Amino acid sequence: MSIPITDVKGVGEKTAKLLEKLSINTVSDLIDYYPRDYDKLGDLIPISNVIPLQTAVVKGTVTGNVKLFKGKRTTICEVLIKDESGVMNVRFFNMPYIKNVLKPGSVHVFRGKTSLRGKQIILDQPQILKPEDYNDMKDELIPIYPLTKGLSSKSIGKYVYYSIYNYPAEPEVFPEKILTEFDIPDHREALKKIHFPKDENEVSIAKKRLSFEEFFFFLMAIRRNKALAKETPNNFVCFETADTVRLLEALPYKLTNAQKKVWAEIKEDLSSNKCMNRLIQGDVGSGKTIIAFLSLIEVCANGYQGALMAPTEVLALQHYETICSFIKKYGLNIKPALLVGSLKASEKKDVQEKIKSGEVNFIIGTHALIQDKVEFKNLALVVTDEQHRFGVKQRESFVGKGKVPHVIVMSATPIPRTLSIIFYGDLDISVIDELPAERLPIKNCVVNTSYREKAYKFIEKEVASGHQAYVICPMVNESEESDLENVIDYADKLREALPDSIIVSYLHGQMKPALKNEIMEDFAAGKIHVLVSTTVIEVGINVPNATVMMVENAEKFGLASLHQLRGRVGRGDAQSYCIFISSKNDEKTFERLNILNKSNDGFYIASEDMRLRGPGDMFGVRQSGDFEFKIANVFSDAGALKAADMAVDEVLKEDPLLNNEDHVLIKKKIEEMKTFEVDFRSI
Ligand code: ADP
Ligand code: MG
Repeated sequence: MSIPITDVKGVGEKTAKLLEKLSINTVSDLIDYYPRDYDKLGDLIPISNVIPLQTAVVKGTVTGNVKLFKGKRTTICEVLIKDESGVMNVRFFNMPYIKNVLKPGSVHVFRGKTSLRGKQIILDQPQILKPEDYNDMKDELIPIYPLTKGLSSKSIGKYVYYSIYNYPAEPEVFPEKILTEFDIPDHREALKKIHFPKDENEVSIAKKRLSFEEFFFFLMAIRRNKALAKETPNNFVCFETADTVRLLEALPYKLTNAQKKVWAEIKEDLSSNKCMNRLIQGDVGSGKTIIAFLSLIEVCANGYQGALMAPTEVLALQHYETICSFIKKYGLNIKPALLVGSLKASEKKDVQEKIKSGEVNFIIGTHALIQDKVEFKNLALVVTDEQHRFGVKQRESFVGKGKVPHVIVMSATPIPRTLSIIFYGDLDISVIDELPAERLPIKNCVVNTSYREKAYKFIEKEVASGHQAYVICPMVNESEESDLENVIDYADKLREALPDSIIVSYLHGQMKPALKNEIMEDFAAGKIHVLVSTTVIEVGINVPNATVMMVENAEKFGLASLHQLRGRVGRGDAQSYCIFISSKNDEKTFERLNILNKSNDGFYIASEDMRLRGPGDMFGVRQSGDFEFKIANVFSDAGALKAADMAVDEVLKEDPLLNNEDHVLIKKKIEEMKTFEVDFRSI
């Protein structure tokens, strides 16, 4: 199954390159490349009912000879066809041989896109079928694949077909018993049905099996994680120290009750006889960072090391600066270190050595760096910030480096309780369900583009009174490059619209990390007043002096993403504002965006978003990481999820270590699983 794709009939070097763009490198990748939808030939319509610019299927008699028009580059063939209701022209480009097929008087079924020439409707480049073939194929589902330029669904379908019928199937992973009990087809059968279904029923049978399988292995891995955690003793028992107590007294604010509750739970875990595995869920702005800091300080004060992993370098740097300022202000006795990609090689090496020797104890960095490249002296706690989940492999990666550390995962993803129990089944869950009280609620407005000038005036006013603003740049559809240009253009335009005294800068995902850090630092220091950015600032950034968040093209974002963006303001004492600009003026768009007006509660917003847009989009653009399955959908395939949950229980009850012969392949697959290796979006 790791046979190279060029082995497939019809796939040459050129096609292989195109397939590679779709991450298809082997026969196995190809077979696992599922259609995104299906098409049907469609019903016949009378010629007189054909309307322009749609796909039409007509049955017509060729009325005369095919006419040929020779141009410099293209040869156009045209012929008039008729049925009882009327006549229409059919046109072909560069297919002169078509005249041999379309003989006068012959009858065919034509299926193609209609276009307009003046007032005349023309059927362009249609597929031609014999009437009897059409009747046979009428209800067949034709797979539509996600494509790249130069490849058609038809050709991908052809390669898949060849592969499924010419290479041996991988052995079925589930024992017969499970297939029967949960009424699912074997893997190969499901693949045939997902690619080439006879009808919708076959698609749903195939989906049932493939979603079941995905859920099964996901849940199995979580169960294994849980078992692992359960067995793991507390290798780093920590007791409350004066350091955290003093810090709490010195802070300019009091912890909220929710923060206090979570902090108590963590202290309890740290001093218990079991290794901690805890998810801290809290809406944006609920104050998760201070909880992470307290936990890490506690660990350091007990003589161990702790690490805080952020998904982005900008965020890592921000945390590092916060802890440095804490040290200065509150006289904490910890030795921090920053480990990020933009450090010089020699600096990195230096930091790594200090981590190894124990010279530093409070380590902040990006996930990738801390995980792969670091040897710790005595790592007792790993906190991941804004991370979706901490995978089996990731956790295990520390085991090899010493004793299993405590783990805290912090997330703002609003996920319903019923699902979090299943998906975070291996973790204890703490919820910070309260925002700091003295916060003024953010004032929101949802407006159309005609409001833009006013919004600029408003930003000008806020900057004049000492505050700062974010502007999320309009999105461009075609390619990422143009998004980038767009940020630059937009910043230019904004500079023109605002007085010279206002300093505008921009940030986007493709900048070098060092430059990004510099810009974020300048913004945090107030040297930049208005920051034009792509959504790279969505995660975790904390600049309390920023009071305006203006989002262009708000209609293109999921509400959960907009909520995250909004979370970048309202972090200080001053009143903050969010301006969502929609370039679509219809009622539905405004209804959806107005949900943000009604509530500042991430859970409520996510559930409303799900109600309006369907579950697929619930987590918006970037929150989907956790729940990204190839085919399964955690919301719409709830039945398969439940079945998989039951199946996992059954298998483990009978054979907890997966040692039975029946479970050999399940065990093997679990061991090879990469599912949990999260794709870190480095900004
Ligand atoms: P998030 O949960 O989104 O990571 P942060 O930890 O960044 O939120 O906190 C947001 C802001 O709220 C920070 O400026 C932080 O100093 C402040 N903050 C945290 N806890 C409290 C509190 N109990 N009272 C007042 N402000 C707080
Ligand atoms: Mg945060």
